[in-house]
Amino acid sequence: MTGRRYLIAGNWKMHGRLQDGTALAQALAEKLGPNGDPRFEILVCPPATILSAVSAVGEKTALLTGGQDCHAAPQGAHTGDIAAEMLADAGAGYVIVGHSERRQNHAETSAQVKGKAAAALRAGLKAIVCVGETREQRDAGQAAEIVAAQVAGSVPEGATADNCVLAYEPVWAIGTGLTPTIADIAAMHSMIREKLRGLVASPEAVRILYGGSVKASNAAEILAIDDVDGALVGGASLDAGSFWAIAQACR
Ligand code: PEP
Repeated sequence: MTGRRYLIAGNWKMHGRLQDGTALAQALAEKLGPNGDPRFEILVCPPATILSAVSAVGEKTALLTGGQDCHAAPQGAHTGDIAAEMLADAGAGYVIVGHSERRQNHAETSAQVKGKAAAALRAGLKAIVCVGETREQRDAGQAAEIVAAQVAGSVPEGATADNCVLAYEPVWAIGTGLTPTIADIAAMHSMIREKLRGLVASPEAVRILYGGSVKASNAAEILAIDDVDGALVGGASLDAGSFWAIAQACR
């Protein structure tokens, strides 16, 4: 971590109704206040149904909000989908694209993820582009190759450190309590940084998050890795105390 401010991002997935979602956001907003913390930024990505309300709670504070997915088009006949412009309209500053649950459950390809990330940039949002290998791919020794191909195929044209964040999330580490070794995370993040050198301007300034079973007890050693610039957190982001404890592990 050299000169990059940590981003601690919470992916609430399909959790959160109006009352508990706004209460969780309120608790974080109170901790952050208007000025936040110089070490890290805190982002929450609630379900789209409560994004406006959560954004309103964070409005006069340093709490950032984002969507969990977007469509590539700005509008149209796409029942059930949400345009990046709609997320911006609801107060979002970020959107997660290519989460493994989207890649797996909705068969999203890297080309589609790239289209979504481009839509985020068009709408003035920052894209969090997720990549990560499955257990089978890691066991077959293909992890680096798979992740490199996902990075090359998913990062949109025009991506910069200001509008794009990468998130390395091994599929087998998400929601399982399992994490790669510190050496494996370091090797993957360094490979992703190297890959970005041929893809974006100012690759050294792009933040690369780690995601997959991050919790208060393992955050410090993960966030201490050179090319780890924050965390994408699922389960532990649903409790303000646990999520805040992860942020406190930032150096
Ligand atoms: C995620 O879904 O992005 C994630 C990292 O989940 P968890 O922290 O629960 O493993």
